[in-house]
Amino acid sequence: MKKGHVIYCNRCGRRLEGTDLLPGEEGLHIEKSWGYFSGKDGEIHSFDLCESCYDLLVQEFKIPPEKKEQTTLL
Ligand SMILES: [Zn+2]
Repeated sequence: MKKGHVIYCNRCGRRLEGTDLLPGEEGLHIEKSWGYFSGKDGEIHSFDLCESCYDLLVQEFKIPPEKKEQTTLL
């Protein structure tokens, strides 16, 4: 959730350090525009999660997220 430039975790309500202009703490931002056949007909849903809420969320996954090492672009 974004208020001004401040980002809040939608799950725990905690304010993430930093802003969207000056990123400090990393969070997960999800934005989904649902299509006509989804039952949410053209709605755009978005939310933010802090890292610990992200960890809790993916713990409940039956299949864990894919992980790749970031390759440095040097
Ligand atoms: Zn959180």
